[in-house]
Amino acid sequence: MDTPTGTCAACEKSYSSRGMSRHLSTCLGPGDRLHLAIRDRYDPVWWLHVSVTKSATFADLDGYLRDVWLECCGHLSSFEIGEQRYDSVADDFGYGFGPPPKSMRAKVSAALDVGDRFAYQYDFGSTTHLSGRVVGRVGGPKKRIVQLARNHDVPWVCEAECTEPASWICAYCRTTLCEAHGADEEAQCPECEAWLEESRLPIVNSPRMGVCGYDGPHERA
Ligand SMILES: [Zn+2]
Ligand SMILES: [Zn+2]
Ligand SMILES: [Zn+2]
Ligand SMILES: [Zn+2]
Repeated sequence: MDTPTGTCAACEKSYSSRGMSRHLSTCLGPGDRLHLAIRDRYDPVWWLHVSVTKSATFADLDGYLRDVWLECCGHLSSFEIGEQRYDSVADDFGYGFGPPPKSMRAKVSAALDVGDRFAYQYDFGSTTHLSGRVVGRVGGPKKRIVQLARNHDVPWVCEAECTEPASWICAYCRTTLCEAHGADEEAQCPECEAWLEESRLPIVNSPRMGVCGYDGPHERA
Protein backbone atom coordinates (compact mmCIF):
# COMPACT_ATOMS: atom_id res chain seq x y z
CA MET A 1 0.00 0.00 0.00
CA ASP A 2 1.47 3.33 -1.04
CA THR A 3 1.40 5.99 1.62
CA PRO A 4 -1.40 8.38 0.67
CA THR A 5 -0.89 12.08 0.20
CA GLY A 6 -2.71 14.64 2.30
CA THR A 7 -3.92 18.22 1.90
CA CYS A 8 -2.35 21.28 3.51
CA ALA A 9 -5.10 22.92 5.57
CA ALA A 10 -3.67 26.38 4.83
CA CYS A 11 -3.38 26.29 1.01
CA GLU A 12 -5.12 23.03 0.00
CA LYS A 13 -2.18 21.66 -1.99
CA SER A 14 -1.46 17.93 -1.68
CA TYR A 15 1.82 16.35 -0.63
CA SER A 16 3.23 13.16 0.83
CA SER A 17 3.94 13.33 4.56
CA ARG A 18 7.62 13.98 3.89
CA GLY A 19 6.80 16.63 1.27
CA MET A 20 4.38 18.19 3.73
CA SER A 21 7.17 18.60 6.28
CA ARG A 22 9.09 20.79 3.85
CA HIS A 23 6.02 22.50 2.46
CA LEU A 24 4.59 23.63 5.80
CA SER A 25 7.70 25.49 6.86
CA THR A 26 7.40 27.75 3.80
CA CYS A 27 3.59 27.78 3.63
CA LEU A 28 3.17 28.82 7.29
CA GLY A 29 6.35 30.86 7.69
CA PRO A 30 8.43 31.19 10.84
CA GLY A 31 6.88 31.37 14.29
CA ASP A 32 7.15 29.90 17.76
CA ARG A 33 4.77 26.94 17.38
CA LEU A 34 6.30 23.47 17.33
CA HIS A 35 5.47 21.57 14.12
CA LEU A 36 4.96 17.87 14.87
CA ALA A 37 4.72 15.05 12.31
CA ILE A 38 2.95 12.01 13.82
CA ARG A 39 2.29 8.62 12.21
CA ASP A 40 1.39 5.06 12.93
CA ARG A 41 4.62 3.44 14.05
CA TYR A 42 4.25 0.31 11.92
CA ASP A 43 2.06 1.44 9.03
CA PRO A 44 2.85 4.97 7.81
CA VAL A 45 -0.30 5.18 5.67
CA TRP A 46 -1.79 7.09 8.61
CA TRP A 47 -0.13 10.42 9.32
CA LEU A 48 -0.88 13.82 10.80
CA HIS A 49 0.89 17.15 10.99
CA VAL A 50 -0.03 19.50 13.84
CA SER A 51 1.42 22.58 15.46
CA VAL A 52 1.32 23.33 19.19
CA THR A 53 1.86 26.47 21.24
CA LYS A 54 4.59 26.81 23.88
CA SER A 55 1.96 26.28 26.58
CA ALA A 56 0.37 23.13 25.08
CA THR A 57 0.67 20.09 27.35
CA PHE A 58 0.98 16.38 26.59
CA ALA A 59 -2.59 16.11 27.91
CA ASP A 60 -3.71 18.52 25.17
CA LEU A 61 -1.93 16.46 22.53
CA ASP A 62 -3.28 13.21 24.00
CA GLY A 63 -6.84 14.62 23.91
CA TYR A 64 -6.39 15.70 20.31
CA LEU A 65 -5.05 12.28 19.22
CA ARG A 66 -7.94 10.56 20.98
CA ASP A 67 -10.46 12.86 19.26
CA VAL A 68 -9.22 12.43 15.70
CA TRP A 69 -7.73 8.95 15.74
CA LEU A 70 -7.99 6.75 18.79
CA GLU A 71 -10.66 6.98 21.45
CA CYS A 72 -12.72 3.81 21.78
CA CYS A 73 -13.29 3.24 25.48
CA GLY A 74 -11.04 5.47 27.58
CA HIS A 75 -7.87 3.38 27.67
CA LEU A 76 -4.65 4.59 29.30
CA SER A 77 -2.00 6.21 27.13
CA SER A 78 1.60 7.31 27.37
CA PHE A 79 4.19 9.43 25.59
CA GLU A 80 7.81 8.31 25.67
CA ILE A 81 10.81 10.56 25.03
CA GLY A 82 14.07 8.71 25.48
CA GLU A 83 13.57 6.95 28.82
CA GLN A 84 11.06 9.46 30.16
CA ARG A 85 7.39 8.53 30.09
CA TYR A 86 4.46 10.91 30.40
CA ASP A 87 1.40 8.89 31.44
CA SER A 88 -2.29 9.76 31.20
CA VAL A 89 -2.57 8.38 34.73
CA ALA A 90 0.79 8.92 36.44
CA ASP A 91 1.77 6.64 39.29
CA ASP A 92 5.05 6.35 41.14
CA PHE A 93 5.68 2.72 40.38
CA GLY A 94 6.98 2.92 36.84
CA TYR A 95 8.28 -0.25 35.29
CA GLY A 96 11.33 -0.90 37.40
CA PHE A 97 13.72 0.90 35.09
CA GLY A 98 14.19 4.45 33.86
CA PRO A 99 12.94 7.54 35.65
CA PRO A 100 9.44 7.47 37.23
CA PRO A 101 6.67 8.45 34.79
CA LYS A 102 5.63 12.10 34.75
CA SER A 103 2.12 13.44 34.35
CA MET A 104 0.81 14.65 31.01
CA ARG A 105 0.39 18.09 32.57
CA ALA A 106 4.00 18.69 31.46
CA LYS A 107 4.44 21.08 28.54
CA VAL A 108 5.37 19.61 25.17
CA SER A 109 7.76 22.51 24.47
CA ALA A 110 9.66 21.84 27.72
CA ALA A 111 10.36 18.23 26.71
CA LEU A 112 10.80 18.39 22.94
CA ASP A 113 12.92 20.51 20.64
CA VAL A 114 13.36 20.65 16.88
CA GLY A 115 14.68 17.31 15.58
CA ASP A 116 13.55 15.30 18.64
CA ARG A 117 11.51 12.12 18.33
CA PHE A 118 8.84 10.66 20.58
CA ALA A 119 6.71 7.54 20.84
CA TYR A 120 3.12 7.25 21.97
CA GLN A 121 0.94 4.33 22.99
CA TYR A 122 -2.82 4.21 23.35
CA ASP A 123 -4.20 1.21 25.26
CA PHE A 124 -1.70 -1.14 26.89
CA GLY A 125 -3.73 -4.20 25.83
CA SER A 126 -4.52 -3.89 22.11
CA THR A 127 -1.96 -1.14 21.77
CA THR A 128 -1.90 1.43 18.99
CA HIS A 129 1.68 2.65 18.61
CA LEU A 130 2.45 6.09 17.15
CA SER A 131 5.74 7.80 16.51
CA GLY A 132 6.38 11.50 16.17
CA ARG A 133 9.06 13.98 15.26
CA VAL A 134 9.48 17.72 15.80
CA VAL A 135 9.94 19.05 12.27
CA GLY A 136 10.58 22.70 13.08
CA ARG A 137 8.93 25.92 14.21
CA VAL A 138 6.09 27.54 12.29
CA GLY A 139 3.64 30.41 12.61
CA GLY A 140 -0.08 30.12 13.29
CA PRO A 141 -2.97 31.14 15.52
CA LYS A 142 -2.90 31.11 19.32
CA LYS A 143 -4.98 27.92 19.58
CA ARG A 144 -3.07 25.26 21.56
CA ILE A 145 -3.23 22.58 18.87
CA VAL A 146 -3.89 23.16 15.18
CA GLN A 147 -4.19 20.36 12.63
CA LEU A 148 -2.04 21.26 9.63
CA ALA A 149 -2.56 18.20 7.43
CA ARG A 150 -3.56 14.55 7.54
CA ASN A 151 -3.49 11.64 5.11
CA HIS A 152 -6.32 11.18 2.62
CA ASP A 153 -8.45 8.05 2.96
CA VAL A 154 -6.48 4.88 2.29
CA PRO A 155 -7.97 3.03 -0.75
CA TRP A 156 -8.43 -0.38 0.90
CA VAL A 157 -9.83 -3.05 -1.42
CA CYS A 158 -11.86 -6.15 -0.64
CA GLU A 159 -9.71 -9.22 -0.01
CA ALA A 160 -12.47 -11.79 -0.61
CA GLU A 161 -11.17 -12.60 -4.13
CA CYS A 162 -12.68 -9.32 -5.21
CA THR A 163 -11.40 -5.87 -6.17
CA GLU A 164 -14.23 -3.64 -4.95
CA PRO A 165 -13.40 -0.83 -2.49
CA ALA A 166 -13.56 -2.11 1.08
CA SER A 167 -15.84 -0.58 3.69
CA TRP A 168 -15.43 -3.17 6.46
CA ILE A 169 -12.56 -4.92 8.24
CA CYS A 170 -12.67 -8.19 10.18
CA ALA A 171 -11.20 -7.31 13.58
CA TYR A 172 -10.11 -10.92 14.14
CA CYS A 173 -8.02 -11.51 11.01
CA ARG A 174 -7.83 -7.96 9.50
CA THR A 175 -9.29 -9.04 6.17
CA THR A 176 -10.89 -6.05 4.43
CA LEU A 177 -14.32 -6.55 2.84
CA CYS A 178 -16.55 -4.65 0.39
CA GLU A 179 -20.27 -4.03 0.95
CA ALA A 180 -21.25 -7.20 -0.93
CA HIS A 181 -18.92 -9.36 1.15
CA GLY A 182 -19.24 -7.56 4.48
CA ALA A 183 -22.70 -6.04 4.74
CA ASP A 184 -24.54 -9.16 5.88
CA GLU A 185 -23.78 -9.40 9.58
CA GLU A 186 -25.25 -12.90 9.74
CA ALA A 187 -22.57 -14.10 7.31
CA GLN A 188 -19.08 -15.31 8.23
CA CYS A 189 -15.72 -13.75 7.46
CA PRO A 190 -14.48 -15.53 4.30
CA GLU A 191 -10.97 -15.70 5.75
CA CYS A 192 -11.32 -16.70 9.43
CA GLU A 193 -15.02 -17.71 9.49
CA ALA A 194 -15.80 -15.44 12.45
CA TRP A 195 -19.42 -14.24 12.51
CA LEU A 196 -19.35 -10.75 11.00
CA GLU A 197 -21.86 -9.65 13.61
CA GLU A 198 -19.03 -10.00 16.16
CA SER A 199 -15.91 -9.36 14.15
CA ARG A 200 -16.84 -6.64 11.68
CA LEU A 201 -15.81 -3.00 12.09
CA PRO A 202 -16.05 -0.09 9.64
CA ILE A 203 -13.07 1.11 7.61
CA VAL A 204 -12.03 4.43 9.13
CA ASN A 205 -9.14 6.81 8.49
CA SER A 206 -7.25 5.93 11.66
CA PRO A 207 -4.46 3.69 12.95
CA ARG A 208 -7.08 2.36 15.39
CA MET A 209 -9.07 0.87 12.48
CA GLY A 210 -10.31 -2.64 13.26
CA VAL A 211 -9.15 -2.57 16.91
CA CYS A 212 -11.29 -2.87 20.07
CA GLY A 213 -14.59 -1.70 18.62
CA TYR A 214 -13.15 1.54 17.23
CA ASP A 215 -15.65 2.94 14.72
CA GLY A 216 -14.54 6.50 14.10
CA PRO A 217 -13.91 9.87 15.72
CA HIS A 218 -15.21 10.24 19.23
CA GLU A 219 -16.95 13.41 20.42
CA ARG A 220 -15.56 14.43 23.79
CA ALA A 221 -18.15 15.44 26.36
ZN1 LIG B 1 0.18 24.94 2.31
ZN1 LIG C 1 -11.24 0.12 23.55
ZN1 LIG D 1 -15.79 -7.99 -2.11
ZN1 LIG E 1 -11.80 -12.67 9.70
